[in-house]
Amino acid sequence: MKVELSRLASFAKEQGFIFPSSEIYEGVGGIYDYGPLGAELKRRIADLWWRAMTQLHENIVGLDSAILMHPRVWEASGHVEAFHDPLVDNKVSKKRYRVDTLIEDYAQQLEERARRETEKKLRKKESIIPLEEALVRHGDYQRAQRLRSQLNTAMAQKDWEALSRLLVEEKVPCPESGSTEWTAVRQFHLMFTTQLGALADEAQDIYLRPETAQGIFVDFPLVLKTARLKVPFGIAQIGKAFRNEIIARQFTFRMREFEQMEMQFFVRPGSEGEWYEYWKHHRRRWHEHLGLHPANLRFKDHEHLAHYAKAATDIEFAFSFGFKELEGIHSRTDYDLSRHALYSGKKLEYYDETLGQSYVPYVIETSVGLDRVVLAHLSQGYTEEMAPTAEGGQELRTILKLHPLLAPIQVAVFPLVRKEEFVQKARLLYEELRYHFPTAYEEKDSIGRRYRRYDAKGTPFAITVDGQTLEDETVTVRDRDSLAQIRLPMHQVRPYLQERLDIAQWLRTL
Ligand code: ATP
Repeated sequence: MKVELSRLASFAKEQGFIFPSSEIYEGVGGIYDYGPLGAELKRRIADLWWRAMTQLHENIVGLDSAILMHPRVWEASGHVEAFHDPLVDNKVSKKRYRVDTLIEDYAQQLEERARRETEKKLRKKESIIPLEEALVRHGDYQRAQRLRSQLNTAMAQKDWEALSRLLVEEKVPCPESGSTEWTAVRQFHLMFTTQLGALADEAQDIYLRPETAQGIFVDFPLVLKTARLKVPFGIAQIGKAFRNEIIARQFTFRMREFEQMEMQFFVRPGSEGEWYEYWKHHRRRWHEHLGLHPANLRFKDHEHLAHYAKAATDIEFAFSFGFKELEGIHSRTDYDLSRHALYSGKKLEYYDETLGQSYVPYVIETSVGLDRVVLAHLSQGYTEEMAPTAEGGQELRTILKLHPLLAPIQVAVFPLVRKEEFVQKARLLYEELRYHFPTAYEEKDSIGRRYRRYDAKGTPFAITVDGQTLEDETVTVRDRDSLAQIRLPMHQVRPYLQERLDIAQWLRTL
């Protein structure tokens, strides 16, 4: 059973993973802060993405471009003209929605209902007809398909009137009030603007970037020259992006300020198909290698492609509110570089020595939201289970089952009791370990309570100095998930942990 988003949000706040921004002033919608544990978790994920890109691929280099860019960048990229979402208000509840997500969520509800009813019917009749075959005959299923197909067409054509008609004709209800009375669909621009320069009348309108990718395209010639790269090669970047999202109701899934990890891979035209396949699978493997369960991940190919795109797929994760986009892999042809060449008047080409000619490289993009990866790991890792107590009873424990490499605190060291000789040994061990791993030391409360506290922080290893340590210099190492304890000589603790927390080994097996 997946933990509900509201429970996860309060857990994340209690533990210091994620806070609403400016909380003492009642917060700001769609904007969040990462607390002490969240900041660590986010950094680790970003670090493993960065290493998997730049350390693992000798032809990928990093970049850190500015958030504010020349306004012409966003004209060339098409954002000024087309970066809109359709919004609609319900007349009864007065709630505002993004139309595409409203219709998509309704279609999903219809499909799930059809699936439940069909399954029940087949079971009752003891029918051997495959579920998928029977499903297509269900009215709700057909309606869901119809809604999706009309939605896709209208979105691709940015036909807001067609969306208005669809809401009315298909009687799409407001999730809040159930009412089907809607205002007309309007478009809403997603880029934030601000002013560059000190004097208001001389100031120039400028945008906060809605994606990091354009910095990569614009710096393409400089990176190419300075890093002396040969096609195929990639440029990777991690950074903040800003979108004035119409609604931001799903915790950190949809934020107005968020962080992206994007990589643009430049290839010879004609080879984009094989590179698209490579990146699709490599990126999925990265998520799995960090512990996201294969059953919680799926590809969803885009049905309607942007006019310049050759192929596009999303890697979706099973959040508590359904499978939703975690990452996009896009085959973007030479669209972006050509547009910037057109708008800037500069040549953005690559001279291919082996072919003896110049061309504009094609691009495969991998684009993942860092905040969504954090949310996926919190959702999957959050576990409540009954566990034995020291007194022989049972109690509920909350564990955050994070991959050991992602844990904000990887090791916790405890003296069993707060007595001088126990404390001294535990401090000694802590002093050794903290240079190698994020390590915590705690002596307050009973040992059971300390274990529970660190289970909830996701700490994979807890080490205890007990009575036996004073006799033979051994300590116990407790595993967060299995609760299994082993005894190790104190001097073997560091190599034991190093073997289990080895980034090089993780990269080697990716
Ligand atoms: P959606 O359809 O959910 O609005 P999108 O298709 O617009 O997303 P892209 O433009 O492809 O998203 O952005 C790439 C990645 O950036 C997404 O896969 C997602 O992980 C992340 N992302 C996009 N918008 C947000 C947001 N508002 N909050 C958090 N992450 C986001």
